[in-house]
Amino acid sequence: MILSYVDSLPTGNERGLFYALDLGGTNFRVLRTQLGGRDERVIATEFEQVSIPQDLMCGTSEPGKDIVACLNEAMGRQGLDMRVSSLVNDTVATLAGARYWDNDVMVAVILGTGTNACYVESVEAIPKLQGHKSSSGKTIINTEWGAFSNGLPLTEYDREMDADSINPGEQLFEKTISGMYLGEIVRRVLVKMAETGSLFGKHIPEKLQTPFALGTPNISSMQQDTSEDLEAVGSILYEATGVDSNLDVRKMVVEVCNTIAKRGGRLAGAGIVGILQKMEEDSEGVVFGKRMVVAMDGGLYEHYPQYKRYLKEAVAEILGPELSSHVVIEHSKDGSGIGAALLAATNSIFE
Ligand code: ADP
Repeated sequence: MILSYVDSLPTGNERGLFYALDLGGTNFRVLRTQLGGRDERVIATEFEQVSIPQDLMCGTSEPGKDIVACLNEAMGRQGLDMRVSSLVNDTVATLAGARYWDNDVMVAVILGTGTNACYVESVEAIPKLQGHKSSSGKTIINTEWGAFSNGLPLTEYDREMDADSINPGEQLFEKTISGMYLGEIVRRVLVKMAETGSLFGKHIPEKLQTPFALGTPNISSMQQDTSEDLEAVGSILYEATGVDSNLDVRKMVVEVCNTIAKRGGRLAGAGIVGILQKMEEDSEGVVFGKRMVVAMDGGLYEHYPQYKRYLKEAVAEILGPELSSHVVIEHSKDGSGIGAALLAATNSIFE
């Protein structure tokens, strides 16, 4: 868990023109927003999104370099009269963005290419912060929950994918629930079914044996096919993996997709309950029983309806009907851009 050092959340009084840059695992977004204070709130926003080219995803890193200093220098080179006023984790920004509209937001979760969560914690509950002055008495903790790697029940497919990854043994929660990996887990299950059960006949197409050939958007699209002959499943399967399929095979493939999405959604839901229970323990019982909002964002949560449903079902199931009736799980679309702009506004030092 990492301290965010954000202990004053947006109040609604923020004014001025702010930019936010959001660097994700797949997409890079730029937002410009004009904030008009309590009455006018967000007067105007402009937004651009581009996908990050593959060749920029890898490169050398020179440890210890301050990325804020690098960005300031790069803007200087372009002749821009701008400077970075805050560097914010995207879950923390999502929480701040959602809180701008709703005071009951206490937790934020990102489920996109990767995953992370943060929550509002009492300063008193943090031994490291004893003596720290916070006017609100609260601060945001970035849990880096994707890194949670102990005690998770893993299958042979998870273990093999992890062993072949660039960071074996790390980020195991992320590897079981986030968008980067769900399609790949399904692909590995299908390869095994092809090898041991001749699911696709004698020949296993080379494409199917290519790591990451099947993306999470593919498995999600296959699950949306409601046609009788599962035509879309057939064509996605053929295009992504080179597999020729009949109806029985398509049904089986959809079942595998559903199983992996269900496990991912339910584990993510269990993670949210874990955070709520931690907050409940720290507050000695004052958290549950009143409205509590969990702000959600990220392409996986937004575009995979079954995953979202399994996540919500798991939260309701673990908490039970009474406690879960107070928990609102809400999509806060692109809240991180606005949230980062708001935190920049709150933390700006005017020269
Ligand atoms: P980032 O994680 O780069 O910030 P997003 O939050 O937009 O970006 O999430 C992108 C991820 O969302 C993709 O890597 C993919 O795993 C997942 N995703 C995108 N579209 C879909 C879809 N239709 N169904 C399921 N998952 C999707």
